[in-house]
Amino acid sequence: MNASTGSTAASASTSVGGTSVKDAQLEELSRSFAFTTRLDDIIAWGRKNSLWPMPYGTACCGIELMSVMGPKYDLARFGAEVVRFSPRQADLLIVAGTITEKMAPILVHIYQQMLDPKYVISMGACASSGGFYRAYHVLQGIDKVIPVDVFVPGCPPTPEAVLDGVLALQRLIATHQPRPWKDNWKAPDYAQLG
Ligand code: SF4
Repeated sequence: MNASTGSTAASASTSVGGTSVKDAQLEELSRSFAFTTRLDDIIAWGRKNSLWPMPYGTACCGIELMSVMGPKYDLARFGAEVVRFSPRQADLLIVAGTITEKMAPILVHIYQQMLDPKYVISMGACASSGGFYRAYHVLQGIDKVIPVDVFVPGCPPTPEAVLDGVLALQRLIATHQPRPWKDNWKAPDYAQLG
């Protein structure tokens, strides 16, 4: 006897090797719309595709960043178009331009107010190294005061380079890369400097 014991004729199905045909069909159907993953991976997938950037534009790089957001280069294609001007509503700080020593405590303060998990892209030579401002009043790289995940080279970087930086950050998030620069970061004590 190889008929299943369904309660009605409509639900009855033939059994093959212990699995009813109906079950096999259901399994096949489920494969067409369901997939399995790890919780960590699905969270990382959502996180990388919904970055909320806060632009910290201080100079010419800031102008270049605007074109990244515009319709031609369209950062929205990568899910990062929801620009916020409040650090409390952003998780990606894009520093675009020259940062002076006087500005550094403000940058740190803004970084501290952002939501965790948070990320930083340093856009351009000035933000990354002081650029050609080899001067006492210019911070020689924002990584001296906040943790930076991605440095985008250029003066200014092209919009394509900035997009590449965002994609690099997305890969970092998706693959759960360790971030010792972030984990070991301590805020500089500007109060002590007077
Ligand atoms: S890196 Fe070049 S383009 Fe960007 S802010 Fe500095 S001088 Fe301007």
